Amino acid sequence: MRKNILFVLGAGASKGAIDAPLGNELVWEHSLNSLLSKMLDNGIADNSSSKYLMQNFTIFLLSIEKYYPELEGLSERFENRGINFADKNFLIRDFKKKYCIDEILQMAIEKDDKELIRNIRWLIFEHLISVGQNCNLYENIRKYLIDNKNNNIYNIISFNFDCYINGQLCDKHYFDYNVSFNELSSYKDLKYSQDNKICDLIKPHGSLDWRICPKCGKTYIRFYEFARTIEQEYCLNDCCKEKLEPLILLPFESGKEIFNRLIDISKIKIGEAELIYIVGYSFPEYDKDIKELFKKNVNKNAELIIIDNIVDSEMASRKKKIEEIFIDNKIEFYWDGFKKWLNQFIGKEKK
Ligand SMILES: [Zn+2]
Repeated sequence: MRKNILFVLGAGASKGAIDAPLGNELVWEHSLNSLLSKMLDNGIADNSSSKYLMQNFTIFLLSIEKYYPELEGLSERFENRGINFADKNFLIRDFKKKYCIDEILQMAIEKDDKELIRNIRWLIFEHLISVGQNCNLYENIRKYLIDNKNNNIYNIISFNFDCYINGQLCDKHYFDYNVSFNELSSYKDLKYSQDNKICDLIKPHGSLDWRICPKCGKTYIRFYEFARTIEQEYCLNDCCKEKLEPLILLPFESGKEIFNRLIDISKIKIGEAELIYIVGYSFPEYDKDIKELFKKNVNKNAELIIIDNIVDSEMASRKKKIEEIFIDNKIEFYWDGFKKWLNQFIGKEKK
């Protein structure tokens, strides 16, 4: 009997797999670490070469300064940072949770500051693109799915923007995003036949290889190898030729049509699943819609396996939170992390 199996991937999955940043690490660490400074003979650092690289970050500093009175002069301090180029605490004395990107974003959304939201979207994109593209752990899942795709019905819902699971696509296999992009240019060599399809991969928050034209709304998909070329990507629509933007939905943001449709598809996938693996997803407070999505649509006979890597002191509260969402379901918890679990899982399935 073919079983309907759903994998749900959250930030903790990519953190465990490749040390991708979690919400509280976003933007700051990357922007500061990627500064290129050169010491001059007189002991002063020359930061001029990082000007282009830091464009979005500089706009960001200027924007948040006006919301937090205590940060007045932040962009000036950044401009004159000298040898303190990679020190977040030099920039903001006493760095607190309220300066984390998720908090700033929540404020930007409340104030309807579209420029700041757009700016944060770029910074998050720049950060995630810098993490790397290959990951053995995800490659193992992909291989497993290719080998087993006829034995069971597999679906994946990923809340991550990253594309590690897609791989290089040179093996001619592909995941179906269930999105009708206006332009598929870099996927043109792929044969979209049922034989080459691995399974559906639903990304209700968008993906690093998706683009949108801010002017005409035309959507594009890029082969992940080219995700870094975004600086040179313009809309193909002759009457607009606008610079393309990342098509990713940030926490607290309400959806565009494309995302609403993906949520509708997710409802169906969740409802049909007989076995659900939830990897590295903690159902955070700001994702209350996602919590409802699972609560309302899960089949009460579905079995759940929760996989994450958390400290002992958090286990009880996490367990309670999960049990409150999946009241009727049989749930197993695995707290030793994604890597260990996957090795066991693949070994067990091969028997
Ligand atoms: Zn356009």
